[in-house]
Amino acid sequence: MKHFDFIVIGGGIAGLLTAYMLKSYKTLLLDEDGILTSGASAAAGAFLFPKVGFDTVYTRFINNAIIESLKFYEEMGIDTHKIGVTLLPRDERDIEKFKKYENEIRLPFEKKYGGFFFKDGGVVFPEDVKEKININFEIKKIDSIYKEGEYWRVGEYRTKNVILATGHKKLIDIPYINIRSVWGERIEGNGEWRIENGEIKGELPCHFHKNCSVGVIDGLMKIGATHKRNCPECRENEEEAYELIEKAKEIVDIQNFKITKIIGGFRAASVDYFPVVGKIIDVDETLRQNSRVVKGEIPKFWQYIEGLYIINGMGGRGFSNAYVCAKMLKEYIVNGKDLGVIDTKRLFIKWARREGEEYLKMENGK
Ligand SMILES: Cc1cc2nc3c(=O)[nH]c(=O)nc-3n(C[C@H](O)[C@H](O)[C@H](O)COP(=O)(O)OP(=O)(O)OC[C@H]3O[C@@H](n4cnc5c(N)ncnc54)[C@H](O)[C@@H]3O)c2cc1C
Repeated sequence: MKHFDFIVIGGGIAGLLTAYMLKSYKTLLLDEDGILTSGASAAAGAFLFPKVGFDTVYTRFINNAIIESLKFYEEMGIDTHKIGVTLLPRDERDIEKFKKYENEIRLPFEKKYGGFFFKDGGVVFPEDVKEKININFEIKKIDSIYKEGEYWRVGEYRTKNVILATGHKKLIDIPYINIRSVWGERIEGNGEWRIENGEIKGELPCHFHKNCSVGVIDGLMKIGATHKRNCPECRENEEEAYELIEKAKEIVDIQNFKITKIIGGFRAASVDYFPVVGKIIDVDETLRQNSRVVKGEIPKFWQYIEGLYIINGMGGRGFSNAYVCAKMLKEYIVNGKDLGVIDTKRLFIKWARREGEEYLKMENGK
């Protein structure tokens, strides 16, 4: 039986970059379809845009991820089409909010095109990312994983370390991690576009984001948005694609648009929007060893399921978040570095306070 140091399940951007970070070990990446060929990563517009907002831990995390991931992709020889992005207010309320954000933004920006223009904004093509990042990969659907002694059994392989990067699809039940799916679509097409009274142009001066993201790269327009929560039945359809084009027309005057591609997918988000990264907590043992956790106390002892990790909850910014999350996960596994705000522990603490007592009652009654 073949043995690996690490097996990463899920070949979306999170799994791919995790496998890349661990490539100096004997690492295997598995996906039921291919690398970046299904899931959210195939559907993504893959725009890399800063966030406008108050100077919070969340905004700093997101914007740091933008800067770091742009640098990483460039180093890997991946074109980031870094012509900048203008983030536009969506409505009157947003205009007022933008005024308040003005002094909070820590990245260089200019007031331009009716919004805030950031030079640090770009877009990548998943096909390009896939081509430039080489890792050991196999197509395989994993239905279950289980422990055999100190090893995990994953299909016909064994490993001491499994990393779950399955996006919105659940492989095992982890009671304290609630991954929500949000449906969205990316459209590509050709046509003519202009900005405010300008000449018809083949290229826009920058990418734009309002209720959707819009960019023109080499004459091809990309429009993307994720917008439908709790919609497991959602599938690509032309009607929705035209709705999205209407949203894009609020940004750019688009004429004679001919759709060449519609691709939909579910992205995965956590309840507090931060990514979900780290070792999986042994819920039963951690609850039992810390009886006051259900009253809101922070556990003194953490018990983990040995060799089981997760990287998920990339939200609407997987192509930037995944890079920093994968880098931090590697540092955590290899050098024991703290995961800070993305650690799954925060979700356990909240869940235990809310549902821990009920969970223990049910477990004891089994
Ligand atoms: C329409 C749309 C537009 C978006 N636009 C942007 C954008 O402009 N910029 C941006 O940064 N992000 C964007 N996102 C978000 C981004 O796509 C996600 O955050 C990111 O792709 C999530 O990556 P992931 O690897 O976590 O999950 P996924 O890409 O969903 O990957 C999970 C993978 O796991 C595999 N898998 C699942 N279960 C199993 C199993 N049991 N066995 C084997 N394989 C399995 C799946 O096949 C899949 O390939 C967008 C998303 C959507 C849907």
